[in-house]
Amino acid sequence: MQLHSIKDLDLTHKKVFIRCDFNVPMDEYGNITDDRRIRSAISTINYCLDQDCAIILASHLGRPKGEFSEKYSLSPVQRRLHQLLQREIILTKDVVGEDAQAKVNAMKCCDVILLENLRFEKGETNNDETLAKTLADMADIYINDAFGVSHRAHSSVEGITKYFDEKSRAAGFLLQKEIKFFGALIKRPVRPFISVVGGSKVSGKLEALSNLLPRVDKMIIGGGMAFTFLKAQGYDVGNSLVEDDLIDDAHRIMQEAKERGVKLYLPVDVVAAQTFSADSVTKITTAQEIPQGWMGLDIGPATVRLFKEALADGQTILWNGPMGVYEMEKFARGSNKIAHYIADTYATTVVGGGDTADLVQRIGLDEEMTFISTGGGASLELLEGKILPGVAPLVCPEQD
Ligand code: AMP
Repeated sequence: MQLHSIKDLDLTHKKVFIRCDFNVPMDEYGNITDDRRIRSAISTINYCLDQDCAIILASHLGRPKGEFSEKYSLSPVQRRLHQLLQREIILTKDVVGEDAQAKVNAMKCCDVILLENLRFEKGETNNDETLAKTLADMADIYINDAFGVSHRAHSSVEGITKYFDEKSRAAGFLLQKEIKFFGALIKRPVRPFISVVGGSKVSGKLEALSNLLPRVDKMIIGGGMAFTFLKAQGYDVGNSLVEDDLIDDAHRIMQEAKERGVKLYLPVDVVAAQTFSADSVTKITTAQEIPQGWMGLDIGPATVRLFKEALADGQTILWNGPMGVYEMEKFARGSNKIAHYIADTYATTVVGGGDTADLVQRIGLDEEMTFISTGGGASLELLEGKILPGVAPLVCPEQD
């Protein structure tokens, strides 16, 4: 799949709207813990600056409920951009309101404006047409460099593209790199191809799990989502995270894995805690013996050994979602051990998802992985063979 590239556009002295993905993880003090997504946008921004463009950067951060909230302001992103680009970054007080309009109208060559969090506007996630048009009216050129959100048909990702013709919309360098990498991975993965899936919810990854099954040789399931599968197998998992309405789906996935000959691995033991807190009493129990009222918050040592065995012959390893509540030290051990093991293999190792990238970088293993994707959900949907709604308008027609 070939995309219209930013390099094909005439950008000189233009006003360029760049949809970035600055949805970065932060700690409890509001510090950015992994700025990969910001750093990854710098080449596209610098390229535009070299062409004397005036630049409007736009992104979402977290899930504010369609209104301003200090907690979700992009001001930490503004500061990091300032450090990285060594130039003034003008943050607007709103997204498309008076302040943003005034600042955009007053823009000069090489100014960089950062619009406030797109999700302060209710219309963003509904792909609202008026919002899309108002954003589009700000610029001459539209660049999508937000791989992490390209699987969402949102106003600034999909709706907006309708207001730019093929000579004025294109993919930035980051988006191109991600699409190229996953395109190659899906076409000819070196086998055995193993996916390691974790994180909190089956619901968010259900379709991806089903669609990955025909492509992979082994599937390893850890994290909170594993408990829905364990419950489907008839275990009492105490107060662990379970999506009861998805137990049938978990059954179906396990059955399908069997029929396809895909080896599916689930935790055999867990680090169980009495409460969901960093100072909770914990103990290691088998998956069969989680005490009443306790919850599994990490994979246990036997599971780490099992998963390592399963990963040993992997030639391509795709990892999406932590094995436990890695944000709390007590429940980070399983994820850390698996991260070290994956990093040490000679396989092609691909890490996807903000949380997984964050945990890998916290323990200094980011340089050891073959590819760290800036998009978790987006990369899974690409691997399902879908054309993402934010990418479809940027595909070169002759290559369709
Ligand atoms: P996701 O966004 O679905 O990839 O989920 C990431 C989140 O899953 C992280 O914030 C983890 O703390 C959380 N998580 C992982 N394992 C568990 C678990 N066993 N119970 C509850 N939450 C978990």
